[in-house]
Amino acid sequence: MAIETMVTPGGVRAVMEGLAATYRGRGSVELGEPYRVLVSTVISQRTREEQTTAVSQRVFARYPDMASLAAADEKELLVLLAGSEYREAKGPRLIAMATILLEKYGGRVPDDIDALLALPGIGRKTANCVLIYAFNREAICVDTHMHKIANRLGWVTTKTPEQTEKALEVVMPRDLWAGSNRLFLQHGRAICLSGAPPLCSRCPVRPWCAYGQEPTARKR
Ligand code: SF4
Repeated sequence: MAIETMVTPGGVRAVMEGLAATYRGRGSVELGEPYRVLVSTVISQRTREEQTTAVSQRVFARYPDMASLAAADEKELLVLLAGSEYREAKGPRLIAMATILLEKYGGRVPDDIDALLALPGIGRKTANCVLIYAFNREAICVDTHMHKIANRLGWVTTKTPEQTEKALEVVMPRDLWAGSNRLFLQHGRAICLSGAPPLCSRCPVRPWCAYGQEPTARKR
């Protein structure tokens, strides 16, 4: 197959369509209730998907809304968070976050990036995920998978996920932003691996990938 131009809107769209076809249904955005999206996104930080789902179900059964989470007993919450990484930090942060949202926003989750970033334990990745999955906003949620793959594709040359987010806002058509995280997450887990050579010979988007075209690149 001919090598396409790496960083054009058409090339970017071809990659996203290739990923969407490979990981069917994984690029769609399913909206959730803002309280649950926010809390489960915090629980998901550095935590596997299966654990996130199980822990979130336990937490929501005990604390179904912002008021109950703000009033939570920290020790009890830490027990429920078992399975979520860094729970000792997340527990008090979740309570502090719920307390702030209750006092300042009447228990609502704000649909504003700066207001979200002002909350304890909320970085750009979490804030953007909340904007996408709770409020259907156009945003790019850049995690380590997306940062790594965007650099391998040659779309960006960046050192941090925050830099990648800004660079992708220029490179990626807006209608592709919201669903991109789920597709890159799947691709990073299945083929474009971290901590091991990416499986380029099995990659559906290799014709559009800078790394995938390098003859000297380590590939298998
Ligand atoms: S060709 Fe290789 S480096 Fe490029 S996206 Fe595919 S697996 Fe990743």
